[in-house]
Amino acid sequence: MSTQPTLSSPSISARSIATAEAHSAHNYHPLPVVVATADGAWVTDVEGRRYLDMLAGYSALNFGHRNPRLIAAAKAQLDRVTLTSRAFHNDRFADFAAQLAELCGMEMVLPMNTGAEAVETAVKTARKWGYRVKGVPDGQAKIIVADNNFHGRTTTIISFSTDEEARADHGPYTPGFEVVPYGDLAALEAAVDEAGENTVAVLLEPVQGEAGVLVPPPGYLAGVRELTRSRGVLFIADEIQSGLGRTGATFACEQEGVVPDMYVLGKALGGGVVPVSAVVSSREVLGVHRPGEHGSTFGGNPLACAVALEVLDMLRSGEFQQRAEELGEHLHRELKLLPASAVREVRGRGLWAGVDIDPSHGTGREISERLMARGVLVKDTHGSTIRLAPPLCISKEDLDWGLEQLRSVLAG
Ligand SMILES: *Cc1c(COP(=O)(O)O)cnc(C)c1O
Repeated sequence: MSTQPTLSSPSISARSIATAEAHSAHNYHPLPVVVATADGAWVTDVEGRRYLDMLAGYSALNFGHRNPRLIAAAKAQLDRVTLTSRAFHNDRFADFAAQLAELCGMEMVLPMNTGAEAVETAVKTARKWGYRVKGVPDGQAKIIVADNNFHGRTTTIISFSTDEEARADHGPYTPGFEVVPYGDLAALEAAVDEAGENTVAVLLEPVQGEAGVLVPPPGYLAGVRELTRSRGVLFIADEIQSGLGRTGATFACEQEGVVPDMYVLGKALGGGVVPVSAVVSSREVLGVHRPGEHGSTFGGNPLACAVALEVLDMLRSGEFQQRAEELGEHLHRELKLLPASAVREVRGRGLWAGVDIDPSHGTGREISERLMARGVLVKDTHGSTIRLAPPLCISKEDLDWGLEQLRSVLAG
């Protein structure tokens, strides 16, 4: 990390970035680093420079890059069978479904691939449950969501986003959603009651990641649980980013003493190797699906299941949750010591933080670029926020080194 090879011009990086810019849609604005290899919490670019990855694929890499156990599980499965489609059974699927349900304290699983597909599955399931179990008149189901939500990028999901960048020019939008302020229980109750018996679900992130790691006020999630239970409404927790260790527990809901009716999982479930997502719920809820009514060619494929089974085994030990809790306490203690002139607010839980930079010290993007020059990768969000979410396997020494770079950037 000390002696970085210098940029030669025109660098391999520059050429690679120019080609990507010319031939791929500009729906992202990546930092100008071209990663070639990775190991644990570190990545190396095409010129041999090393960077500490403090983003970890938005929590898809909770267990680090190329975690040896996950790579071994994937390699072993590559030599057996990789894809069957759900037209047939495969010998990894049953264990995956049973063990994931068990980890969640639930009964059934519906596997998909990406997070957005799992959220779509949750929406379809809640609506179907509303019509078939709750007795909602056809086409009238309402789902209540929070402002500043991030649940993915499909047409239906962006229909209930409050982020104009995500929504604009993608209409017409899917109806059937009501948006209320995040963290405001009274507003949620009013919206649930306004739609009355047609309310089928409340869909929330227990901690809003993309919004800048927003933690709701204490008691909010417990209040949501009580409200939804009393009204016969499903509580859907989108734990795609907050779940599977990031906050210092298997689920962020757990830390509030809350069990939702449905978990939506993704990101870390695939161990940073393959996309794996799932909806996990009760037999009453997921039992509404009948053959042919929903599905995915790749959902539940044996390679995905083999990797996810290893992920589940690692989560059962509690080791990663504990690391996230302990290192998270350290991280937040250190972040609180950053100069108030440079940092407006620090939020988060576990090994997960949103840091609002005072504009006098630069935009989130500028801070990210300066950190990159010092060998640390983070991602800005909403202009002035940088998000820290290192792999849960990061060493305390590496974390401290990363924090030192942040202090230097904010001081310079
Ligand atoms: C990332 C994310 C999604 C979408 O997952 P994709 O795999 O990108 O489709 C949904 N919900 C939350 C909370 C997320 O963080």
